[in-house]
Amino acid sequence: MAEKTGKCMCGAISFTARGSLDRFNICACDMCRRITGSQFFSVWLNMSELDLSGADNIRTLQSSDWAERAFCGNCGSVLWYRPTDGAEGVGLSLGLFDDVTGLVGDNHWYTDKAICQTVTLPPAHTLTEAETEAQYNGGTD
Ligand SMILES: [Zn+2]
Ligand SMILES: [Zn+2]
Repeated sequence: MAEKTGKCMCGAISFTARGSLDRFNICACDMCRRITGSQFFSVWLNMSELDLSGADNIRTLQSSDWAERAFCGNCGSVLWYRPTDGAEGVGLSLGLFDDVTGLVGDNHWYTDKAICQTVTLPPAHTLTEAETEAQYNGGTD
């Protein structure tokens, strides 16, 4: 069983996740695009496999009749998508993880709405973390 840590942007909420943690899903539905600003990359696990710190900072929104979205009340980081039918499953945002090595893509939903497939990307200026920070005086964040 794998174990991975993660946190929201401001660090008010952190977690240790356990489970297989070897696959991620991508959703580009209208709600996922808007709440993330792009697409929602997530890892599916059970709430019982998630140890949360700073849970008093979590805010939830009932986003449909069957699911909620959660985010950090301080920095706005998207935390999860979770069915509210009483089941254990939760789609935890992949972007929160400290280390995503070893994960592979599984499902990609609403591909016809995926931003990279619906806009024309110009030739990319690709920069590593070190190159980006050198060019922008310490980074873009
Ligand atoms: Zn936060
Ligand atoms: Zn979605």
